[in-house]
Amino acid sequence: MDSQAVRSAMVRRLQAQGVSHPAVLAAMGAVERHRFVDTALAGQAYEDTSLPIGLAQTISKPSVVARMVELICQGRSERLGRVLEIGTGCGYQAAVLSHVSREVYTIERLRGLHEKARENLRPFRLSNVHLLFGDGMLGFAQGAPYAAIIAAAGGEDIPAAWVEQLAVGGRLVAPAHTVAGRQNLVVIDKTAAGVQHTVLEAVHFVPLKSGVA
Ligand code: SAH
Repeated sequence: MDSQAVRSAMVRRLQAQGVSHPAVLAAMGAVERHRFVDTALAGQAYEDTSLPIGLAQTISKPSVVARMVELICQGRSERLGRVLEIGTGCGYQAAVLSHVSREVYTIERLRGLHEKARENLRPFRLSNVHLLFGDGMLGFAQGAPYAAIIAAAGGEDIPAAWVEQLAVGGRLVAPAHTVAGRQNLVVIDKTAAGVQHTVLEAVHFVPLKSGVA
């Protein structure tokens, strides 16, 4: 597959959908998404669709990854500092994050996927990605404070630990349930004056679960 050409076409579609941050577009154009899914699905890797990654979990569609990464990069032209990702899955979004931040801490609660992500990421030699096995609902205090926190799984509420571990000036983006059982993207900005919540569009993410398995 001439994957660079298909990725460039994907990036043009993302731009047409409103993604404009240069570093985000560059990261989406650089990371080979087809290497994170089963060979049988590689042909669909650059379509705007979520794909199964095993253990009943899915890799988010490219437009959702780009949207969330753009939200944490908004208004910044430099690389982010430390970023925490909840839900490593196959490791794709962690690879995208490694292009826009100095350090990525990513946590997965399913051992099978944690190991799969390690294998998927190995050939890319991304020395700034730290793969952690554990319950991401607790965040990862050792790496705090974070310039940004991004969750790939949605629960009833945003865990308090995440907001605590966010730096002042930092931004958290996560799917969370809102009224009427809907799931929406929620942005939390932490400032010296307090914490500001913004509810954005409806999304469909796998559930955030506690404990490990
Ligand atoms: N960013 C991932 C998307 C994976 S889907 C990718 O690029 O592939 C979301 C993942 O969140 C699933 O693998 C699921 O097991 C994980 N997850 C759900 N609850 C979690 C928790 N409390 N801690 C860590 N990971 C969790």
